[in-house]
Amino acid sequence: MKKNYKVIIIGAGPAGLAAARALKDAGVQDLLLIERESQAGGVPRHCQHPTFGLLTYFRPMKGNTWIKKILQPVKEIPLRTDTTVISIRPGGFVDISSDNGLETLQAKRVIIATGVRETPRHARLISGLRPQGVLTAGALQQFIYLRKLKPGNRSVIVGSELVSFSALWTLYRAGIKPVALVDEHPRPVAFRLSTLLAHLLRVPVHFNTRVSHICGSERVEGMDITDKHGKTLRLDCDSVIFTGKFVGEYTLILKSHLQHDKKTGRPLFDQHGCCSDRDFYAVGNMTHPADMGDQCYQEGLQVGKAVALALQEEQPTQTDNPVLPIEHQDIIRMSAPAVIRLGGEDKTTTLNIRVSRPVSGEVVVRDGQRELYRRRHRCMPERRILLKNINITHLTSDSTLSISIE
Ligand SMILES: Cc1cc2nc3c(=O)[nH]c(=O)nc-3n(C[C@H](O)[C@H](O)[C@H](O)COP(=O)(O)OP(=O)(O)OC[C@H]3O[C@@H](n4cnc5c(N)ncnc54)[C@H](O)[C@@H]3O)c2cc1C
Repeated sequence: MKKNYKVIIIGAGPAGLAAARALKDAGVQDLLLIERESQAGGVPRHCQHPTFGLLTYFRPMKGNTWIKKILQPVKEIPLRTDTTVISIRPGGFVDISSDNGLETLQAKRVIIATGVRETPRHARLISGLRPQGVLTAGALQQFIYLRKLKPGNRSVIVGSELVSFSALWTLYRAGIKPVALVDEHPRPVAFRLSTLLAHLLRVPVHFNTRVSHICGSERVEGMDITDKHGKTLRLDCDSVIFTGKFVGEYTLILKSHLQHDKKTGRPLFDQHGCCSDRDFYAVGNMTHPADMGDQCYQEGLQVGKAVALALQEEQPTQTDNPVLPIEHQDIIRMSAPAVIRLGGEDKTTTLNIRVSRPVSGEVVVRDGQRELYRRRHRCMPERRILLKNINITHLTSDSTLSISIE
């Protein structure tokens, strides 16, 4: 079987598929998509709520319908499904595991588009045994839409991100009673209006409230929730859906040679998605857990174009230029990109940031004392905040680029 490619794309979700499309449109041949699931499509393939497609086709579409559309332009690109990339190595080497056993492939460029995971129950340190009926929103979608199974009859949703409300809709459509929606934050992490759905479906919403205990040994028998005054309430439920609190799928990065944030595992990548080894790029939700499907698709197109350009350039290429790290206050959890590549042709860039707790204020980007951006933002954890049109033309390797909220 063939071992060498121009570009290997790891992950056939929206970001990987878009990168493949952009490469194909730019005339790059000899591509390979690798996907660990049995079909391409990533998370939207498991979703049947109509919140996809607005940026790509200007109309709301169900996740699975949208995926069928975006698969069309890349259907001729070789795709290896049921194949997991288990490591990446310098020189564009990609080690894979499939029914054929272990193999090593190599490419001139590798694009990593491995997406995100939700934080499961064990990582949230919630007391109780390990009864059946505790799952994430992603697992709920797979139960209902792919396997046509109901994971319970009375479910509590934990979280108030957009994905929490899509879980609410999924429960309702499947005939499962949503018992309550519980979140530790004082207000919804998604837009305030999103709670309207809960009110319309007559689902009680508890903010400023945390899950203190899950009852039951074989099967969930209830759940204790505790509000900020310490008052505890027992909810009668047989299943719990933990939603959101996304973490990038960084397993490959953590054990690779690529420079990454030691705390989180996020790779250091520039405004074109290029990592510390110029043969590797990162794109999609793994670079900023987690944005919407269409947004990741648009980014995939950009990164695909950047890779096509890098392949055209002979040495020395722009990806050999030095990078400038972006520093930020502790309340800013991350910035995508994590570094700025100097000396390119782009005049401006956009930074996509996340905060660790709710905060309103002016977000300021500075190069030393000089302000490059200042704008008021109301920042909620898990919500993307875009700092647009930041002028990067004057940056040099002596610059100090920082983001703060004042
Ligand atoms: C439960 C849930 C509900 C969501 N609902 C919405 C919504 O309603 N609307 C919306 O716009 N967005 C929604 N999103 C977000 C949307 O799904 C993402 O924005 C989008 O899927 C990100 O695309 P991606 O390509 O970066 O990642 P993914 O879609 O996660 O694709 C990554 C792919 O990489 C594969 N992969 C990972 N590791 C490996 C490996 N080592 N080897 C091989 N393959 C690998 C995975 O199997 C997966 O197919 C939701 C997300 C979740 C989790």
